[in-house]
Amino acid sequence: MAGGSETKAGANAELQTATKVVHAGRDPQRFDGFVNTPVVRGSTVLSATYDDLVHHRGRYSYGRRGNPTTESFEAALKALEGGDGVALTPSGLSAVSLSLLSVLDAGDHLLMVDTAYRPTRTFCDQVLKRLGIETSYYDPLAGADIEAFIRGNTRAIFLESPGSQSFEMQDVPAIAAVARARGITTLIDNTWATPLYFKPHAAGVDISIQAGTKYIGGHADLNLGTISAVGAAWKKVSATHGTMGITISPDDAALGARGLRTLAVRLDRHWRSGLEVAEWLAARPEVSRVLHPALPTDPGHAIWKRDFAGATGLFSFILKDVPDRAVAAFFDALTLFGMGYSWGGYESLAIPFNCADYRTATPWDVEGPAVRLHIGLEDVADLKADLDQAFARMHAAQ
Ligand SMILES: *Cc1c(COP(=O)(O)O)cnc(C)c1O
Repeated sequence: MAGGSETKAGANAELQTATKVVHAGRDPQRFDGFVNTPVVRGSTVLSATYDDLVHHRGRYSYGRRGNPTTESFEAALKALEGGDGVALTPSGLSAVSLSLLSVLDAGDHLLMVDTAYRPTRTFCDQVLKRLGIETSYYDPLAGADIEAFIRGNTRAIFLESPGSQSFEMQDVPAIAAVARARGITTLIDNTWATPLYFKPHAAGVDISIQAGTKYIGGHADLNLGTISAVGAAWKKVSATHGTMGITISPDDAALGARGLRTLAVRLDRHWRSGLEVAEWLAARPEVSRVLHPALPTDPGHAIWKRDFAGATGLFSFILKDVPDRAVAAFFDALTLFGMGYSWGGYESLAIPFNCADYRTATPWDVEGPAVRLHIGLEDVADLKADLDQAFARMHAAQ
């Protein structure tokens, strides 16, 4: 975990993010000049002498505790997140669950944002509840008013901004400031923005979580979670990660690192194409509203502009009210957009959703069926043409 291996370039705090993405965590001369850190498979690590063995002098001690492949990837992520250390987990959801288990004890209270990724809620409502930890859900628009929901035993506040599926922007610095003043740990699921477009630690958040499955992996071929933390929170995450025996395979670490090297250029394209499609949709007669914080008309736009360095390719829109069969015709007509969960890969995706199915603290009153899109790396004119012909099929089915 954590990791000291870094190229000279990666260690230089003056470098721009796009440069760090390329250089951080690599040390080619350590591996006979090969550009990428090799995939090192191994459990047992041999010591050269009895003295080295009993005094734990080796750089590595045992496969579960890290190897050159995982260490190199952790060092790259640490340089981007700017925290005290990074832990890798086998999925985004396990990064969420491990982080919460690291900072909460029986009898504690957790404030969870109502717009969190749905399986995060299920973990709280089932596992944390069984362990005697109470979760209550708060309005994502709470900002500094979060103070009103804090109880004597509130130990953690969990954020996700923009919100899953509906893209409400949270005032992260305001919430983090209230929490810090009261000694409450803050955690954020920062998967949408990635550490390239939003830096949770700079905004005062203790634990920054990524589903590396999404943009870091970037190719729909990997499940991965990353946890970056600062101060006392890093000590807790590091200890819990180690004692629970959480590891990822060196192959998955290498795939994560490979995705990371092209992240800046991919995100830039997802951002621009996504915004172009969002603007195009906003002008369509079939669409009631587009939920995308980079649109100037979006209620969260001012916060996005203040806090974020960019937008990515995931957003939603609300259709004007149409019958189910017309929605089905729209989805079935799509040829370039795949129908599937997850996102962050190079390919475009579409799913229907309904937040009323699970939210408890905030209403979900919308004008019609809701659709989430992931805009991939295809030519944007082709994507618009695909949506255009799907709208035509939708009309024909009404
Ligand atoms: C996908 C996702 C996760 C979970 O990642 P997995 O690797 O599928 O477990 C967590 N949070 C957000 C916001 C996600 O989109």
